[in-house]
Amino acid sequence: MDIGFIGLGNMGGPMAANLMKAGHSLTVFDLSKTALQVASDAGARVAKSPRDAVENSEVVITMLPAAAHVMAVYLNDDGVLAGVRPGVPMIDSSTIDPATAKLIAEAAGKQGNPFADAPVSGGTGGAQAGTLTFMVGADEALFETLKPVLAGMGKNMVHCGETGTGQIAKICNNLLLGISMIGVAESMKLGASLGIDPNKLASIINTSTGRCWSADTCNPYPNVLPNAPSSRGYTGGFGADLMLKDLGLAVDAARQVKQPIMLGALAQQLYQTMSMQGLGGLDFSAIIKLYSGKED
Ligand code: NAD
Repeated sequence: MDIGFIGLGNMGGPMAANLMKAGHSLTVFDLSKTALQVASDAGARVAKSPRDAVENSEVVITMLPAAAHVMAVYLNDDGVLAGVRPGVPMIDSSTIDPATAKLIAEAAGKQGNPFADAPVSGGTGGAQAGTLTFMVGADEALFETLKPVLAGMGKNMVHCGETGTGQIAKICNNLLLGISMIGVAESMKLGASLGIDPNKLASIINTSTGRCWSADTCNPYPNVLPNAPSSRGYTGGFGADLMLKDLGLAVDAARQVKQPIMLGALAQQLYQTMSMQGLGGLDFSAIIKLYSGKED
């Protein structure tokens, strides 16, 4: 298939590479010359604008940082909607707010292009390995059409409901993840301060009712899990600033439906504090540093 792919960052770069490995022809666009060069070396055609990238595409995929970038890439004069042929389906895998996803879907629908929001979980490791989970907001027929394309980048495709519901699923998952990481950090730090061996504590938690992904796969306490970001200086994971963005999306979405999210709002402030202290580029499990005393 001819695929127009826009946004070749930490996630989009490997996703595009996997689509080419799966036999698709890619035309790509990004603002980064380096990212374009990497994709070109792997066999992609480099376009001059989003519009240029999609003019001959049979499917369009975007993987951009946030809603403002998605709006610009789809709606600007040299954007996707200005170049795409009617009927061509489009997938946005960026994590953005459900309202923007619906707005793009409406604009696309007016010119006969079906649009799906399909944010992912699985991180950069999943993007590289082609094992991402896609949470898809689309009608049933569009979901079935897109499944074979998504299979080139991921292992699980979950149909969440109509447009926007993929983003709702993603935001709610990351709300819980952001909160659970703070809980694990607080518990691990207290245990260590009270004098239990952190490895012993982690192994108890991981076979008890406190077990969760933040404890058994990404434990924030250094050297408890050798492959976790906490054991390599909190590098190479899911950046705290991206978690902060996702908690902001949850807080905004909650405000729209007047739904209180007490712990989510507090979690947002804690990651904001981390970001203000210059730690926003570290893996979000570095939130444990907020519990550090002078001796740490
Ligand atoms: P990134 O910042 O590494 O990549 C974004 C890319 O978009 C960059 O290459 C940038 O140059 C490009 N870009 C920005 N504006 C553009 C424009 N106007 N036109 C063309 N290209 C443009 O981000 P990422 O880590 O790849 O994340 C992408 C999305 O996936 C985000 O919404 C993020 O929240 C989500 N996500 C990330 C992870 C993760 O672990 N990194 C996991 C799940 C979901």
